[in-house]
Amino acid sequence: MKWDLAVSGPVAGRWPHRVFLDAREREAFKTWDVPVRYAKQGWRAKLGDKCKVCDDSARQVAHKIPYKDGILKHGLTPSYLWRWENLVATCKTHNRTVQWGETRIKVHVAKLHRREPRAR
Ligand SMILES: [Zn+2]
Repeated sequence: MKWDLAVSGPVAGRWPHRVFLDAREREAFKTWDVPVRYAKQGWRAKLGDKCKVCDDSARQVAHKIPYKDGILKHGLTPSYLWRWENLVATCKTHNRTVQWGETRIKVHVAKLHRREPRAR
């Protein structure tokens, strides 16, 4: 995915087939911060052009598991967080409304760990 190409160095190219960053990769993100976020091309066709909360015109792509927390707190990869199933079309007002709460995220991440037992 193109977002992986936005980072150079030891992290580059290591995510595409994995859900989790390892401890060293997560440390690299803490140091370098996250790459700029760009919405995927064609997101309206995939996610719809109406806000999922209020049905107004969709202006943004929101993450159910927030991007930065997903990486820094939960060790998920940028590629995973940009999967369609983690994205929701929203208006500007409701971008944060669709974010999952901490408990729901933790339950989801625990399921992922069961699916990918060797990742940390
Ligand atoms: Zn809305």
